[in-house]
Amino acid sequence: MVQEIAKRFMRIRRDVSTSLALQEGERRDIIFRVSKLAGKQEADLTINEDGVLLLAAITDTIVNYIGKLLFSESFTKILEQKSTEAAKRYVEQVIPTIQEQSFKRCKKCNLDNDGNAKFCKNCANKLD
Ligand SMILES: [Zn+2]
Repeated sequence: MVQEIAKRFMRIRRDVSTSLALQEGERRDIIFRVSKLAGKQEADLTINEDGVLLLAAITDTIVNYIGKLLFSESFTKILEQKSTEAAKRYVEQVIPTIQEQSFKRCKKCNLDNDGNAKFCKNCANKLD
């Protein structure tokens, strides 16, 4: 199932956005972070783009696994198509919101920095 999740992750990643394309040799972390800001009651969960895609891939894989157990082969194919479309839509809707809230992507090296960072922690490029 882990392999299936990885496969779906790469497929969704490829289909969703060209801004996610990696340069040769580039590495990017998948970020899930819980933090509590001063003066706030609740902790915040922040996830970067690739984290959202991973969640979509996991959900997609589980939905399809259940589909295969419960339904016929042809129905599962339709379900698979629909869930992939839903995952893509979800990611496209969620990414702009999440990014605005929590991360500043460096235009030079593509690293996701904290939303309140002024300079990239990887290459020291000034962040807008
Ligand atoms: Zn940078």
